[in-house]
Amino acid sequence: MAFFPSSGFHYGNVLSSGNTEKKNLTLTFDDGPEAATTPGILEILKKFKIRAAFFVIGKKIAGNEDLLKKLDSDGHIIGNHSWAHSNLWDFNSSVRIADDLERNIMEVERVTGKRMKLFRPPYGVINPMVAKAIDNTEVTVVAWSLRSFDTTAVNPVTLLDKIVKNAKPGDILLFHDSCALTAGILEKIIVSLQERGYVFIPLDEMLNLQAYETH
Ligand SMILES: [Zn+2]
Repeated sequence: MAFFPSSGFHYGNVLSSGNTEKKNLTLTFDDGPEAATTPGILEILKKFKIRAAFFVIGKKIAGNEDLLKKLDSDGHIIGNHSWAHSNLWDFNSSVRIADDLERNIMEVERVTGKRMKLFRPPYGVINPMVAKAIDNTEVTVVAWSLRSFDTTAVNPVTLLDKIVKNAKPGDILLFHDSCALTAGILEKIIVSLQERGYVFIPLDEMLNLQAYETH
């Protein structure tokens, strides 16, 4: 298990890749739901019958309820990516961070009726305050093993080449469904990786875990 590349703090329970030699990959998307770009990504995933995971920002859900419901009814996993993705998020106390996680859990539950268990910290930061909040809320932290850097990419062809060249069995790929460039290149990425023998499997299957609390 690797821990977050951007974190100087070692937190033990971070899942970032599948333990497999099979040519399996999992797609994950952060920072939505985004009315302008998420629907196009959903269409492509539907075309290829791929179930992905979306780590959503709580405050973006109001007004996008139908989009969140579609994520769920299309079979994708919904995970927690904090309420507001503030860049000062991890400077809060562990109590406030835990409240923030719960606020997003309740917002997703309001729309889908499901309580998220999976959490990906904004900016991938896990400092001691975040770690304490994670322990107190009993969320499961999911990172990634292959980061696309799609939000800062300028050339889609370079981005495509880099991902296809670096993908390896068990990888969890990080994209952003809020990124127009990603929506434009996703189909090519899927086709190129499938041509190389890769199969896309859902996050819960890759990590052998439950994405939601069971009542
Ligand atoms: Zn993010």
